[in-house]
Amino acid sequence: MKKPPLPSLESISSPRWWSDAFVSEQADALCSVVAGAVTFGSTLAFSTWTQWRILGIQTGTPGPAPSVVGMASVCLASWACHQAALFTLFSRDHIRSSYSNNRVIDISNQLRSSWTSWRQEQQRVAMAYDRRYRDDHVDARYFRLPMHTIRVCAIGVLAFKLMGGRFWAISPSSYANIGSFARQSIPATERYATPAERLKLDRIGRIWGCHTCGSRSRSFVGDHMPPKSVAETMMKRRKLFFLKPKPVSFRFYPQCERCSSQQGSILSRATQQLRLSRKKGFQLHKDRANAYFHGHKFRLVHHLAGAAVAGISIGGSNQDIMDGNRSRFRKIEKQIEKDLRVAWKTGVKRALQLVSP
Ligand SMILES: [Zn+2]
Repeated sequence: MKKPPLPSLESISSPRWWSDAFVSEQADALCSVVAGAVTFGSTLAFSTWTQWRILGIQTGTPGPAPSVVGMASVCLASWACHQAALFTLFSRDHIRSSYSNNRVIDISNQLRSSWTSWRQEQQRVAMAYDRRYRDDHVDARYFRLPMHTIRVCAIGVLAFKLMGGRFWAISPSSYANIGSFARQSIPATERYATPAERLKLDRIGRIWGCHTCGSRSRSFVGDHMPPKSVAETMMKRRKLFFLKPKPVSFRFYPQCERCSSQQGSILSRATQQLRLSRKKGFQLHKDRANAYFHGHKFRLVHHLAGAAVAGISIGGSNQDIMDGNRSRFRKIEKQIEKDLRVAWKTGVKRALQLVSP
């Protein structure tokens, strides 16, 4: 088979080549994946900001709040990412259809008209779909949730977990608790890290970054978790309830010097306030100044999960794009259900054959 010739340097340098490449179908997939990845990452960054400024949630907040809010954020990000990927495919098709040899594309005008026809098309298609599949939604008491939304969220949650994402780590990092970037730690005692331990922490830090801010600066300190002053109050409490209280076990996490000094000043201030007040323990998670906002940091896991969610919209026909992939996802889900049923039945049959004499 003859290989297609590579584009010459002369052709690449002409604006004509670039405008042709821009409207080529191969560029559609790339644009759609990039749009999806950016939307997914931005939605999660917005969630981090909302948790920091409005909800008052950080990684040190006790209970399931960080994980629950994180999971809801991933669902929202998946939906936004899916819409962004579809709109990109739709608008590119729109632009291409009006592209001709002699016309220069006015991108902003084209995007505006794409948006209007996208909205109209979406409303029309959603109504037609609801008429066709009347039972394809979940009726809760106060709202109605289309199964398509649930499918998209499930795909997003699955992609996020498969890429190694953690829901609680979307919350802003507490300075006095395990931070959002914490992945690996080593056992510790109350003493400072030994040279051998520091070497290990440096290695972990270079891979995963400072556990609070994620920066991969060269030198790391071993951060005691829980911090020693927090452990002291924990111990005092345990002594109230137990005759022989179990000692607090520490772990070392790599932390950069900036976060370490920030943590030091937060804890010394809190310790002073604790001495003056009648309170029994720290309430550090209640103040947003005790958390680090990391929404502006590039997080590969978030963008990869977004790219995966956006990627599933590629490969559908024009009809699938118009339909928002509703029918396509429904068909795939039904096929998986059918395959699982068949696998279950054959599995049970085989098990019965083995058991029966
Ligand atoms: Zn740091």
